[in-house]
Formats: sequence, C-alpha cells, structure tokens
Amino acid sequence: MQGLIVENISNLYQVKVENEIYETTARGKFKKEEITPVVGDMVDITVTDEKEKKAVIEKIYERRVYIKRPKLANITQIIFVVSSKDPKPDLLMLDKQLAFAEFVGVDAIIVLNKTDLDQKEEFRNIKQIYSKIGYTVILTDAKKRQGIDKLKDLLKNNINAFSGNSGVGKSTLINGIFNRDVTQEGEISKKNKRGKNTTTAIKLYEIDENTYIADTPGFSTFDISEIESKELYHYFKEFGQFEENCEFIGCTHIKEQNCGIKKAVENGEIDNARYESFCKIYQELKEKEERKW
Ligand code: GDP
Ligand code: ZN
Repeated sequence: MQGLIVENISNLYQVKVENEIYETTARGKFKKEEITPVVGDMVDITVTDEKEKKAVIEKIYERRVYIKRPKLANITQIIFVVSSKDPKPDLLMLDKQLAFAEFVGVDAIIVLNKTDLDQKEEFRNIKQIYSKIGYTVILTDAKKRQGIDKLKDLLKNNINAFSGNSGVGKSTLINGIFNRDVTQEGEISKKNKRGKNTTTAIKLYEIDENTYIADTPGFSTFDISEIESKELYHYFKEFGQFEENCEFIGCTHIKEQNCGIKKAVENGEIDNARYESFCKIYQELKEKEERKW
C-alpha cells in the first residue's frame, strides 16, 4: 500500500493511506542504505497488524524536494510571511527565502501581514515590486482574519511550509486557517511547557483533501548556505534574462564593467533594492565559502 508520512517522532512514522493512519517503523535496510524516512515522503508499507493499525515501511519513493532543516520531503510551496510593521519588513530576509525557494524548486507565495498596523500602506510598494517579478503577493490582517480565505485558496493541492522571522504572524495565520489553535501558541507548545514531551515533532496537518500545512516547531527561516555564491543570480528569477548582456563569461554581476544585470538595475528593469539584497547575500555566501578552506 502506498501512503504519505505525515508525522515523525523519533523512529515512529505516522503514514496516511487514504483515510487511515498507520503507525509504522522503517525496515532495517534503510539504515544500511543511509536513508531515513522523513515527513512528506511517499512510501510503500506492509501492514503487520490491521486492528492496531501497525505497519512497516518497505520503500521510500524518490524525493522531488528534500530539505535538511526542518527535515521535510516533497513540499510543493513555501509561504513567506513578512510583517508590514512591528517588526518592520525584512526584505533582505525575504529575498534570501525566495532564493531558497527557487533553489529547491518550489512555488513561493508572499504574505504581507499586519497590514492593519501600516497606516501609510507602505506594503503597497512591496507588493508592487514582487508582483512585477511574478510572485503572488497577498495582503492579510491575521488578527481580524482578513485575507485568510484567499490564502487558504492558494494553499490548495499543495504541501505548504511557512517561513518568516519570529513575530511576523505565522502562528496567527495558521490558526486562522484552521479556525483554532494548532501551532506554537496552542496544542503543541502546551505539550512542551508541561516539560516531559519536549519533542519537536514535524507534522503535516491536512487542511483539505490533498492540502497540507507543515508544522515545524522551532523553525522560522530556511538556511541558504547550500547555495553557491556564483549560482545565486539564477535564484533571483528576474535577473537571468539579462545575463546575456554581460560582457564577461563568468561575470559575478558585482564588480564587472558592462554587466547586463547592473545595466538592467540602472535603467529600472530590475529593482534597486533587489539588487542590493543580491550583493549582500552574494557577499555572505562568498565569505562562508572562503572560511571553509
Ligand atoms: P510568529 O512568531 O510568526 O508565529 O508570530 P505570531 O503569530 O506569534 O504573532 C506575533 C504577534 O503579532 C502576536 O502578538 C499576534 O497577535 C500579532 N499579530 C499577528 N498577526 C497580526 C496582524 O495581522 N495584525 C496585528 N495587529 N497583529 C498581529
Ligand atoms: Zn553580469
């Protein structure tokens, strides 16, 4: 039988097969093959006890996407939450996270939350910049549940993960989607506060048929250090088309003369703040690479 791993606590995996959940362990052979099942994996299982709903994992299907931290397979979409105010929008972080989504090859949705606090409506400018690049941007006020239905629609038929700095409103949005407390503020952390059960279980919540939200306790944003500095520009998706205008092969698009990307920034085809983010992130990645030697 084929199923989806929806939860993992130590060596136990909850596998969803149609409308049943089986508690499974992995066959020993996976250890030899140095592969561990993770939440989001499609697997084949053999039932060992139908009454008790116990089974073993026989096969792990090839992963379309694999993320190391938090350990997740096959997510199809990342929801990047940015707060319009309190805390102020962190666009450098957003650009890092968008690059990560392009790098792993999943769709990205941008949620501008706390729009109620931004009297000057500066979020409109952010929306314009990122919509122009081709990202879907939605405006929300999680506290008043505004924009939640639209967000819910965008989640459909995806395995979704949320990313965003602490305090931007991820838990409030997710709780709004469920219409009840399910995240850090709710069930999960209550368990943690009691002390004993301090597991950081990663879990897929089914919100609709074929639609999941990954709950990833303790996680806020993806680590992008796997991206190579010289590859970074590929993951700024509006940059790629201008590379053919670069004079030098292997142009880093930082210091070179006659750089197609820099020209596009000068004549307004690429947003200046996006380019500045690119330069900062490039520098960070470069420094990390040099420290490795
Ligand atoms: P997380 O760390 O990203 O999960 O953020 P939380 O969901 O815990 O939200 C942080 C704080 O911001 C909480 O006090 C929320 O009540 C508040 N908050 C979240 N969304 C909104 C919003 O849209 N408007 C306002 N005014 N406050 C919000
Ligand atoms: Zn260039």
